[in-house]
Amino acid sequence: MSHNFFTKILWQDFLSLIYPEICVHCGDNLLKNESYLCTICLTSLPVTKYAQEHEQAFFNYFSYLPKVSAAIAYLHFREGGVAQSLLHKLKYKGQPALAVMLGTYFGRHLMRHGHLEADYLLPIPMHPEKERKRGYNQSHEICKGLSAVLNIPIKEQFLVRISDPKTQATSRVVDRWRQLENVYLVEQVNLLKGKSVIIVDDVVTTGATMSTICELLSPYVQRIIILAAVTGK
Ligand SMILES: [Zn+2]
Repeated sequence: MSHNFFTKILWQDFLSLIYPEICVHCGDNLLKNESYLCTICLTSLPVTKYAQEHEQAFFNYFSYLPKVSAAIAYLHFREGGVAQSLLHKLKYKGQPALAVMLGTYFGRHLMRHGHLEADYLLPIPMHPEKERKRGYNQSHEICKGLSAVLNIPIKEQFLVRISDPKTQATSRVVDRWRQLENVYLVEQVNLLKGKSVIIVDDVVTTGATMSTICELLSPYVQRIIILAAVTGK
């Protein structure tokens, strides 16, 4: 071991005394083998039952869409709950590793309930300006964790975000859906022929974005699977 190695270790220990790493949910100091979540919060993650074959409640929101064969969300969103803390942290620049970790846990959870087969993982793209400010697209980072566990490659070129919906003050649901249709584009469609794709988002609330993207993809692909790290449903 080099002198530098020990200096580095000492320096890290010193820093952790001043700035201890804390659990993103409860704020307790983390032990050396813990990252982002303490063991208590990790074991109390609000994991859904949506990966179980007979549990179709999440899928039912999307089952009317053509080509959609499965929809699974990993965590339940609860006000003040662990999933809310995780989502909150994901939105801060500099926390992409937390999104990768979440994707890894999600991937392991899926593997425990049977292997998902697909050709590509497609992260839902962010508005380019927002992504530039944040420094990363959290759905893409979640895909990295999923990809490592499920052994399915990530493809970013097929789903493209072109603009934000016009921020008109409209209460009409139909208007808002029309606006979403103008936000996303599917590109290189000939490369999607006969492929099974998994669309990945960090959080699904109304399901409007996910449904719009499924409708845009369905003429080209053979099968669509929907994955959401967190859901309010
Ligand atoms: Zn904790």
